[in-house]
Amino acid sequence: MFEPTLAGSLPKPFWLAETGKLWPQWQASGTDLATAKRDATLLWLKAQEDAGLAIVTDGEQSRQHFVHGFLEQVEGIDFEHKVKMGIRNNRYDAMVPVVTGPLRLKGRVHQIEAQFARTHTKCKLKITMPGPMTIVDTIADQFYGDKVKLAMAFADLLNQEARALQADGVDVIQFDEPAFNVYMADVTAWGIDALHRAIEGLTCTTAVHICYGYGIQANLDWKKSLGDQWTQYNEIFPALAASRINQVSLECANSHVPMNLIRLLAGKDVLVGVIDVASDRIETPEEVAATIERALAFVPKERLFPCTNCGMAPMSRDIALAKLQALGLGAALARARHA
Ligand code: ZN
Repeated sequence: MFEPTLAGSLPKPFWLAETGKLWPQWQASGTDLATAKRDATLLWLKAQEDAGLAIVTDGEQSRQHFVHGFLEQVEGIDFEHKVKMGIRNNRYDAMVPVVTGPLRLKGRVHQIEAQFARTHTKCKLKITMPGPMTIVDTIADQFYGDKVKLAMAFADLLNQEARALQADGVDVIQFDEPAFNVYMADVTAWGIDALHRAIEGLTCTTAVHICYGYGIQANLDWKKSLGDQWTQYNEIFPALAASRINQVSLECANSHVPMNLIRLLAGKDVLVGVIDVASDRIETPEEVAATIERALAFVPKERLFPCTNCGMAPMSRDIALAKLQALGLGAALARARHA
């Protein structure tokens, strides 16, 4: 009960990559880089276990960015001539690569880190990948000429990698879809269909993470514009509840998402964000337990998984570590009260 887990990413140590950045440069290359990625993965696996997390991740230590980590292994994309594009409905500009031909995987994407993590932990293991809609919103297209076709082409590749990850012994495969609260009509029109294609044939647990993003300025400004009650999910939760995805991860700590909205996710596991990633203040275990208890009014306890609001990649390592510990302690406190 109340098995704690992470949305996914953790900060990279200074010897692996630049710190405090969303698109950090690696600090090594070749075999040194490969070794540094493994060392960092090991370090965070241990930290998650020590904090009492039940479902651990590789902390995304082997990828530079949560979307491009996947795209780099895809044929048919031009990374040499990136173009400037407004993403998440023009919330911010990014230099994005361009689809210029039929998409195909060059090989495995997350094999090394998944197998390495599997070897070094007995906890349940989660690997995250970007969802099809979020990928389509983070890349320019000069080949498919149609958003939905492009999303389905990416979904096929995600499915290919997801099946291989399952064979590697991964217990949970999560697709990150921050685009799901930006293009609500598209979610019901084709976003969930694309996710279904990405999870086809999987027997492991599947999850979708939706969120209001990292604590970067563009996101903080955007959140201010959304009003006191973030009810965007009204439109998409019934469709997610009817979907074949097992788990939905969303932010609930210091969030304006009305907690009673999660009632609309009946039948799903809910990964309740109890740790704010947009603030450096460390939650107390009591605060974490209180957020869990607010959610408990709307989700059965066996379906409630305390989690972080979003990835912690751009945070400082010490703060991320302290937040992991708060997550583990708060979940334990709630468990003691409600077991
Ligand atoms: Zn997120």
